[in-house]
Amino acid sequence: MSFIAPAGTPLTVPDLALGLTQGAFGSGAANRLRQQLASHAAHQRCWLFSTGRGAMTLALTALREVAADPRRTQVIVAGYTCYSVPASVIKAGLAPRLADIDPRTLSPDVSRLNDIDPTRVLAIVSANLYGIPNALPLIEAWARQHGVFMLDDAAQALGASYGARNVGGFGDLGIYSFDKGKNITSLEGGAIVASGPLAAAIDRHFANLRPSSPVHTAATIAKLVVYSLLLRPSLYGVVQKLPFLGLGRTAYDDTFPVERYGRTLAGLTTRLYDRLAKLTAARTNNATRLLESLRDLPGIRFPQVPDDARPAWVRLPVRMDKNLRDRVLAKLQAAGIGATLSYPQALCDVAEVASQLPQADRNQPGAREVADTILTLPTHPYCPPDTAERVRACFLAAS
Ligand SMILES: *Cc1c(COP(=O)(O)O)cnc(C)c1O
Repeated sequence: MSFIAPAGTPLTVPDLALGLTQGAFGSGAANRLRQQLASHAAHQRCWLFSTGRGAMTLALTALREVAADPRRTQVIVAGYTCYSVPASVIKAGLAPRLADIDPRTLSPDVSRLNDIDPTRVLAIVSANLYGIPNALPLIEAWARQHGVFMLDDAAQALGASYGARNVGGFGDLGIYSFDKGKNITSLEGGAIVASGPLAAAIDRHFANLRPSSPVHTAATIAKLVVYSLLLRPSLYGVVQKLPFLGLGRTAYDDTFPVERYGRTLAGLTTRLYDRLAKLTAARTNNATRLLESLRDLPGIRFPQVPDDARPAWVRLPVRMDKNLRDRVLAKLQAAGIGATLSYPQALCDVAEVASQLPQADRNQPGAREVADTILTLPTHPYCPPDTAERVRACFLAAS
């Protein structure tokens, strides 16, 4: 049966054939990608990793080294975000703290950080989930005021901007991801962008990483071929059942390796970056159509976007009462539309994270409300033109 994937980036035959070939010969493609991402974030430098969580782990390790005060060992993350974020904090040997989020904006709420002593905090991490910019100027101002580093997590927000600045470029450093379901993808990959004295510390840690393994790169290329063929709605019903692609995983895991990115994959990703503006425009168009087609339906809450922000809409998150959500999800799945419940739990309810938290952080009403009410809808360029109508029909049938 035809099935619209929850998220994705169309990969063409030239992307794979030319991109991967150009990447394989010399370091030109990797250098080009580094330049693109550094300049995107208005930073001086960029480092490439096999995963976004590897990038974040090394970034936090470098921050710890650069921090003048060794008592700063805590990292504040959004109470509802990708589980890889607290996993990176814990892997870096630091202690997670949680900032509850405002369910309407999905942004960490710095005005509610009253229980946290900022003098023990090394860094605060934004989330920018689904490509929607957080209250980035406020988070940045809070970090500056308290001498805390800010890491702008743009793993889902490459192509989003706030005011004149691109997401990933706020604070002291940023990260991007090229995993499945991100704004552009080579099935795996991540980057740090940073400037100034921090760059020297990142350089030192990066120099210790082993080069990527050619066997691993070859396996990823094989998966990329399968993914690029089967992402089309006519075939996604097959691909979503292939366990080796690891689609739809949400379990907590802090056993990942911190490794460099393969230059062959960089050849593909630099080509995709060239198309980023087009991809973002297509997703924005699809998100707008979905919003318009659902706007008059009762019981649905839409995300509030800051006035000056332009989201990258890697998915469209909507919220509704839990019972309605279960019925809508069943209808959408039966209709072959890849809706998801996103991350199933607030971080304070993920056992591996909760065990590391002080009591004060274990009750996060905003994050829990989002976990119980969120549903994401697909916005990628493979969504057929009648997607919004079909989604509306599913909502009506479930109401
Ligand atoms: C995907 C993601 C990461 C981690 O990136 P990987 O490449 O999957 O390791 C970090 N933060 C957020 C918000 C993400 O969505």
